[in-house]
Amino acid sequence: MRIEVLTLFPEMLAPMLSGSILGRAVEAGLLQVNLTNIRDFTLDKHRRTDDYPFGGGAGMVMFPQPIADAVAARDPEHRARRIYLSPRGRTLTQRVVEELAQEESLLLLCGHYEGVDQRALDMCIDEELSIGDYVLTGGELGALVVIDSVARLVPGVLGCAESGEDESFSTGLLEYPQYTRPAEYCGLRVPEVLLGGNHADIEAWRREQSLSLTRERRPDLLKTAPLTDADRLLLARMDAAASAVERLREFGVAAERAGFAEADAFPKQWFQAFVPEINRKAAKKQCFSGRRHVGWLWQAFSMDFAPHADGDAARAALTGREPSLLYLPDEGVLLRVSRGIPLDAFSHFILTDGALSFTYVQPHKPGFGPYFCERT
Ligand code: SAM
Repeated sequence: MRIEVLTLFPEMLAPMLSGSILGRAVEAGLLQVNLTNIRDFTLDKHRRTDDYPFGGGAGMVMFPQPIADAVAARDPEHRARRIYLSPRGRTLTQRVVEELAQEESLLLLCGHYEGVDQRALDMCIDEELSIGDYVLTGGELGALVVIDSVARLVPGVLGCAESGEDESFSTGLLEYPQYTRPAEYCGLRVPEVLLGGNHADIEAWRREQSLSLTRERRPDLLKTAPLTDADRLLLARMDAAASAVERLREFGVAAERAGFAEADAFPKQWFQAFVPEINRKAAKKQCFSGRRHVGWLWQAFSMDFAPHADGDAARAALTGREPSLLYLPDEGVLLRVSRGIPLDAFSHFILTDGALSFTYVQPHKPGFGPYFCERT
């Protein structure tokens, strides 16, 4: 790809174009960036390129003549897509970057001072692009942002190791958190799933993290991101978890959502911890068939497959101070809670300590439970 940059300050761009990935791309001939000093085209006898604005006002405005002549010299047949960097322009996004990367060549005009005489824009420019809702002193940083983001999409510029496919925005979502060695740093451990080498689990974890971060930081992106049914289900579970966390906050209980892989594994783990081995087969037969797995969690109690006791111990567990796991079966949500929860926080739920050694079950159906039991 060829990029022509017209600027009053070419020296601002040169260093960025010679280092790292951009430098390699230029050296390999994948990217050709030509810097043109607009001042070289001025016909003003004092080599001036700007003057006061007609009608008054602060600052200086760049003359149309040197710009028009520089554009004509660098792109005589108008083969390039000609862009003026400007806070008034369309905002640069990854979609726009993808669009620009399809072009054979770009011409980037950098303004300075108060900007550029409108006639130069009307005569020479195809579109205005902004790199964000703030004002810079000149268009050079904007031009570099365009060059850098577009160059990444030019075939061959990124090696396999630097592939851009997974990056934030490329998937329509923000990127998941990344980790490298060491596996533990300052007591902080890399999430176990990333160390396990199970690619399907890693994919699932990354997708969940991407969805979660996007939902939290850039919910606007979810409107246009290509989402699967599974993504939508995860987002609905995240919403349910967020309202549960909010509800607990009203009761003064801090809570955070556990990962969905952990939530999905919870019913089985719970069943194994609390239903004695001897009862499991019968419990499964009676309680599991034809029902959603969550239904049988308390069926196991009501049918006496899991031994239980009611009373003060349960209440103590609910209001005690030890960190616990709270499972909301309908939502498929598992929360870590800072301490026990009030009995009327949710209509039905399962609360256990982190080690799964006690459990409290508040069943949905009137007339059943609540149940308290200790590990079998
Ligand atoms: N008077 C102009 C206005 O209010 O729109 C701002 C001029 S600005 C001080 C000088 C130059 O910086 C502009 O001509 C433009 O090339 C560049 N510039 C400033 N902010 C920019 C942004 N957000 N995106 C792209 N270019 C920008």
